[in-house]
Order: sequence, then C-alpha cells, then structure tokens
Amino acid sequence: MLEGGFSVRRKRPSDAGWPSQAAWQRLKDAVGGNLIPIDFPLAACQTAPGSAECKTLFENLRNPYYIGNHPGLTQTLGWIDAWTTKPSVYAVAARNAADIAAAVDFAREHQLRLVIKGGGHSYQGTSNAPDSLLIWTRPMQEITLHTAFVPQGCDGTHTPQPAVTLGAGAIWMQAYDAVTTQSGRYVQGGGCTTVGVAGLIQSGGFGSFSKHYGLAAAGLLEAEVVTADGNIRVANACRNPDLFWALKGGGGGSFGVISKLTLRLRELPEFFGGVIFTVKAASGDAYKRLIRRFVGFYSEHLFNHHWGEQVHVNPDYTLEVSMVFQGLDSERAKKVWQPFLDAVADERGAYQIGRPPIIVSVPARNWWDVGYWKERGLPVFLHDPRPGSRPTDVWWAGDAGQVGWVINAFESLWLPASLLEAGAQEHLADALFAGSRHAAVELHFNKGLAGAPAEAVEGSRQTAMNPAVSTAFALAIVADGQSPAYPGIPGHEPDLAGGRRAAERVARCMRELRAAAPHSGAYVSESNFFERNWRHSYWGNHYPQLATVKRRYDPAGLFFVHNGVGSEG
Ligand SMILES: Cc1cc2nc3c(=O)[nH]c(=O)nc-3n(C[C@H](O)[C@H](O)[C@H](O)COP(=O)(O)OP(=O)(O)OC[C@H]3O[C@@H](n4cnc5c(N)ncnc54)[C@H](O)[C@@H]3O)c2cc1C
Repeated sequence: MLEGGFSVRRKRPSDAGWPSQAAWQRLKDAVGGNLIPIDFPLAACQTAPGSAECKTLFENLRNPYYIGNHPGLTQTLGWIDAWTTKPSVYAVAARNAADIAAAVDFAREHQLRLVIKGGGHSYQGTSNAPDSLLIWTRPMQEITLHTAFVPQGCDGTHTPQPAVTLGAGAIWMQAYDAVTTQSGRYVQGGGCTTVGVAGLIQSGGFGSFSKHYGLAAAGLLEAEVVTADGNIRVANACRNPDLFWALKGGGGGSFGVISKLTLRLRELPEFFGGVIFTVKAASGDAYKRLIRRFVGFYSEHLFNHHWGEQVHVNPDYTLEVSMVFQGLDSERAKKVWQPFLDAVADERGAYQIGRPPIIVSVPARNWWDVGYWKERGLPVFLHDPRPGSRPTDVWWAGDAGQVGWVINAFESLWLPASLLEAGAQEHLADALFAGSRHAAVELHFNKGLAGAPAEAVEGSRQTAMNPAVSTAFALAIVADGQSPAYPGIPGHEPDLAGGRRAAERVARCMRELRAAAPHSGAYVSESNFFERNWRHSYWGNHYPQLATVKRRYDPAGLFFVHNGVGSEG
C-alpha cells in the first residue's frame, strides 16, 4: 500500500459514511465519557471580531498554557501560504493507552482522518486537521521517577539505571521540575519549557545542554505505543527494537501514538550559566571582521561540550550572543570570553558593546527553579497569569515571540564542523555575512553534536535522526513570523504581502548559507514546510529503514503528517 499510495479517502462530516451519533456514543462510552466535541475559541472572533471577548482571546493567544489547554488550538496558528490551524470535529481526551487504542480502532474502522496532539508545538501544522478525530494526550501528565529501571524484556542484558517515566501529555517544564528542581537529577529534554515530551523525543530533540548530554531521543529507554492495529505495545531495545529506533527521531505522528515514555536520568553538573551581550559594528567591513573573529574564537574556545544555545548574526551589523554553558562557574566562563571581549574593546571606533556583558552561573539545580529566579528579581520566566495556574506554569521570556505566532518562513541547515577548520573559517564567515544581508542567521550550537563527548555522539548514531547531526557544529535557523492572527477576522488578519516578502528574504539568506554547506540536512521539527527533498534533508540515509518500519507497523497509512515518513504515499 505504502509504495503505491493510499487509496482510502478519509470520511468527512458531510460524507454518507461519517459515523452515526450512535457510533460516536459507543466511542464515548469506551473512553469513559472523554470524547469531546471541539470548541474552537477563534469562532467567537469570526462572529464578533470587535468584541471584548475577541480582544481577550488574542491576548490569551500569547499564553502557551492557555493554548495548550484547548484541544482546538495550536501553538503556531499558521504559516503563510502553507497552513492555518483548524480544529478537529471531536477529540478523545485520553487518560491512558486503552483510551488511545479505542480511538485508533474507531478511526481505522470508520476511515477517519486521525491526528495526535501533545504539546501542540508543531511548526508544520502536523497536530491539527479539519474534519478529523483528535487524540489529545494533554490529560496524561503522570510523572514517575525510578531508581533502577530496566526496560521490559531486558533483564540480564541491561543494567538498572535511574529513569523517569512521563505521560505523553507532559511538557518539559513538568519534567524539569520533577527531575531537577525536586530531585537534583538531569533529564535531556527540550529548550522550550512548553514543548510536549512525545513530540520532541520523536523529533530527535535538543535542549540547551545537548552539546554535553546529547539528543533527547538518545535517552529514550522505553515507550508504550499504540500502533495502527490498536495494539498497545512496548518498544525498547529488547521488544520491537525497530519501532523503538524509529520513535527516536523518525518524526511524530507517523508510527503510532505514544502513551508514555521512559528516559534515562543523568548527573547534574555543579553549575549552569548564561552569557548575554551584543556587539554592534560601525560598518560592513568591521562587521565582516567581527564575524570572522567570532568564528575563529568559537572554534578555538567554545567548540566543546560546555557551550550551547545561540549567536545571531543580524542584518543591522549586530552580533547577538545568548549562549549557555554547563560545568563552569562564572569566573571560568568570564575567562573564556575575556580575549574576545578585549579584542572588541581594543577597536573602539569599530565596535560598540550594547550593554555590559552578563556572564553568570547558577547552581544547576536552580536552572528551572521558578522561585530561585523570582527571589532574585530576574524576569527570565513569564508566568501563566490566569487564576488557578501553578507556580511552575512558566515559559522562558526568550520564547515569547513564538507563542501563537503565524510563520512567514522557517528554514534550518546543519553546518558541518569541517567549516571550522582553519582553511574554511573565512568561507563560513563570508557566508554568514552574505546571509545576514537578507535576514538574521541564528546559530544554535546545541543542535549540532560535533564537539560533544563521544558518548553523546554515539547515542545520536543509535537514533533515526539524520546522521548529519553528529558531524555538525551547529544548526543554522533562519525564520520570520508575525503576531497572533487568523484569516477572516477583521483587525486580526495575517499580513500576507509582508509575510511573503519576509519569506523571500529568508530564502535568499538560506541560499547564501547553502552555498557553504550544499549537501547538509535540516532538523525535521524546525524546518521549511516547503522543504525540497525532505526525506534526505530530515533523515539522510536512514529513510529507507524508516519506510520499512512504517510499512510494518502502519501498512495502510492510518497515521500521516505533512512530510512525515510514508506521507509520499
Ligand atoms: C516555541 C517552540 C520552541 C521549540 N523549541 C525546541 C527546542 O528547544 N528543541 C527542539 O528540539 N525542538 C524545539 N521545538 C520543536 C518541537 O520539539 C517540535 O515541534 C515537537 O514535535 C513538538 O512536540 P509537541 O508535542 O509540543 O507538539 P505537537 O504539535 O503536539 O506534536 C508534534 C508532532 O508529534 C506528534 N505527536 C505528538 N504527541 C504524540 C504522541 N503521543 N504519539 C505520537 N505522535 C505524537 C504530532 O502528531 C505532531 O506530528 C520548538 C517548537 C516551538 C514551537
């Protein structure tokens, strides 16, 4: 079926074959009453765009917890000329794997379009579809810590180790609170605190400190997953190992529905820290030299497991540093940066440092400790302002721009570490400068594993992710978006013309970067909706094996997402 394409047209509410009320009632009974018709919050604005209710809604669309709590909403509201968020007809607000299995069976038997949503953070719109049945895992947020976990069926072959089991509806902030703040351990998850655990693990997944700990997917020990036949399976190194491998980076929404997953725990270092400053160059020539100097400095001093997160090469001749580090205290981190800061200060006419650099470490256990930051008056987190929210319902202030946004363009490219070799640095710097004439280039150093410890690199090789990740020193991201907006709501419509112009700038910028890394790949979850050659870009030479797993566990293509494994059928 997969090769030749799927012959089944999914049933829509207007079709004769749409399930009867009695059939829906049977599903409702099977899932303990948790079948809910979807209320689409934006509908209120479609009928009364000028109302106070609509104004409040658009304010709420900047709150990821508000969005996350609504089965009819997604964290990205749309992408110009690509997709616009649309609610499903019904959702099963799943409590456990049995509820999920009931929904999967129902969708398969009635030939319905089925979608799965956890944290709702897909940029590509893969967790929403009109006229569909939604499996909504948000209610499944149970977290259990283990001191000595052995995957099922692995007794005698696997040493017991500390681990955490997370319900598929949990988000990373909940995991970090339980594992790090409450228990003093580390689990590799995502940088953004409101991303869902199951979506991120299936992407491969990077967090701020991935340059030390590796991919989030590499920490997966076991998943409970409902496959297209409605069976509840365990996938780990000993049971269904092919499915287990595919879940580690093969992309969400393609192989089955994960109900819970278990991740290994690690030791915390003594400190985590951050470096924040900007340098503005006075001219294009000075900016070119600054970029060249930074590339050399990165290669010599930062290209190792201590350093992650970002540097932005901005169009206005500003180099914006917002990096993190692990395993160094403030003094050692300052010493690392001093030569670069001195060199910049020496050329006073050419460069201006925006504000005094912040280079500070905190005890690692306090990194996600909301109270710690609050006591010090440091507004690194934004808080869900609604009554009844929990103290830990927070998101990094730096992620606020992407809540409820509409994407104009989003592309990524792994930059191979060979570009850091002495003879190639000039070429890389030139490409970054040339790209920055069109749009801001974000270098995410934690999203390429070259420079990471051997164990982290080896861990990534055991996943389905594109092997390009292990030889890249960074993932370059170029993106552009606009505020919450929705078509057809006067006063809140997306700016199509502006969005298209921005998309052209992003494309021009990426062309300059691709000239330096022509055969590289893109990160499946942070990439172009219109990615050409997406199979190669996302998975490289892993694609044929992923397609085999897909055929084995979902031969009729019940699960499909845009540019997901098997979607070419
Ligand atoms: C603001 C923002 C910040 C981000 N930061 C990072 C980051 O720091 N690091 C990083 O690596 N990525 C990051 N991402 C990308 C993110 O990891 C992916 O988009 C991820 O897939 C989101 O998972 P989710 O559960 O939140 O999203 P969803 O939209 O709910 O799901 C994403 C995909 O996974 C599928 N899926 C969800 N749950 C399940 C399940 N239980 N079983 C099977 N399939 C499922 C969905 O069908 C969909 O196709 C970020 C995205 C956003 C919007």
